[in-house]
Amino acid sequence: MKTLQVSIVTPDGPVYDSEVEMVSTKAESGELGILPGHIPLVAPLQIGAVRLNNGTETEYVAVSGGFLEVRPEKVTILAQTAERAENIDIARAEEAKKRAESRLQGNQDDTDFRRAELALKRAMNRIDVYKHH
Ligand code: ATP
Repeated sequence: MKTLQVSIVTPDGPVYDSEVEMVSTKAESGELGILPGHIPLVAPLQIGAVRLNNGTETEYVAVSGGFLEVRPEKVTILAQTAERAENIDIARAEEAKKRAESRLQGNQDDTDFRRAELALKRAMNRIDVYKHH
């Protein structure tokens, strides 16, 4: 089976670097599954999981938006933040989720709803990805 080199990098440094058979994630336009030999592509990403399949197992990485660049033998994901499932602090994510939910439920005039919604999405994504470690 052919493979793809996948790198996930953030402003804090590299988070993932490996050969995989398939990478799938959520682009702004919908689910994307990339196999070796895919046509070149650049796509903005949603807050979501990147799933990396090496033929025997699937690893999950939580990303909070960014860009995916596809070349026939290489995929680069530039993300604002990225955590491998085993590096997620679940207590921190649960706390962030509670905080965002109470901001969204409270009727305070000064609540930045968009910001709270994004914080909730990031927390829920981390909680979901953590389940796959
Ligand atoms: P919090 O409110 O807990 O800070 P957040 O969604 O606002 O969550 P971000 O701004 O997305 O946090 O991330 C800031 C930094 O903290 C990034 O380096 C990110 O990888 C890391 N990070 C955030 N939440 C977690 C977590 N639950 N486990 C591990 N790393 C995390």
